[in-house]
Amino acid sequence: MAAKRAFTIMVIFPILGGLAIGGYGVYRYINGQMLNAIFDLVVGLSFLAISAYTFFTGREKIARYVSAFITVVGPLAFLKQFDSTYIYWIYSSAIILFYLLEYRSALVLNLVMLLGVVYLVPASDQRPEEFYSFWVTITLIISFSLIFALNEEASKRKLHEQSVTDALTGVGNRRAFAERVSNAVIFRKRHNLSVSLLYLDVDEFKNINDSKGHTVGDQAITRVAQLITTMLRETDSVFRVGGDEFVIVAEGADLSSALQMAEKIRNEIESQDLVAGCRVTVSMGVAELVDDDTTDSWIARADTLLYTAKNTGRNKIEVEAEAVS
Ligand code: GH3
Ligand code: MG
Repeated sequence: MAAKRAFTIMVIFPILGGLAIGGYGVYRYINGQMLNAIFDLVVGLSFLAISAYTFFTGREKIARYVSAFITVVGPLAFLKQFDSTYIYWIYSSAIILFYLLEYRSALVLNLVMLLGVVYLVPASDQRPEEFYSFWVTITLIISFSLIFALNEEASKRKLHEQSVTDALTGVGNRRAFAERVSNAVIFRKRHNLSVSLLYLDVDEFKNINDSKGHTVGDQAITRVAQLITTMLRETDSVFRVGGDEFVIVAEGADLSSALQMAEKIRNEIESQDLVAGCRVTVSMGVAELVDDDTTDSWIARADTLLYTAKNTGRNKIEVEAEAVS
């Protein structure tokens, strides 16, 4: 959705820029300022070309960089070639840069642009009031654009974090799991290292809910998540993928070390008094990613093994038979 919006804006923004500057060029032409008119038309047409490029190729990132370049170089070129009235364009460029680029690059390009202004419009050529007004107002514009950009960045980060976090336990949610599991498939291909998946489900969890209530049930789920988290290595990650279901992705773990890890977790949960007066145990299915696996087939194998563990007594771990032998 956000990507589509960015794409749409990168088609529309250059059209607006192109028409505004091109229109200015026509005005210059009518007034007989041929050179100015040509400059304006070249910049205007460049923006229209960027819009068409983005529309037909879908590559909005390149369009952003090229637009940023023209946004900086355009007004500077006009300032050098013509008169200092072009200094007003610096204001719009300053803000546009924060829209086009992430805030660090926008800030750097703004500083470059201002250095250009210092060089092209010497202080001695300006009245003190003009000089002072320009530098105060441009500093305010850049500062507030930066503050807006930083706020937007912080909200975006927070929103993303919320969208991949399970609200109850604070571990990754289903969406984070989907991302992680696709990365794991790439990781195995690239580094030729093992990756295993531990599919875990709390045994007879409904009994906890029924006998102790939902709040205690929630606490049990949270404690299971916390306990698992404390037992993971740096390269492992845990996700809550259903009511009482968790998945652990263990990077660098072959089936036998994943089995050891699963046994340790199962044992720890069983031996801890997670819910007063209630025995909490878990069952797991453990599957290592193999050559022909897709993410779905890998998850399905672990899920099937979990199902077997449930059907053959619970509080146990199942791995593929050939691996056990
Ligand atoms: P099994 O050993 O076969 O897993 O039995 P079970 O009773 O644990 O069955 P199952 O895993 O299918 O049931 C999970 C239950 O978890 C069903 C639902 O009522 C409950 N549940 C789902 N989400 C939540 C939650 O956020 N909080 C609480 N307290 N309960 C939940
Ligand atoms: Mg269960």
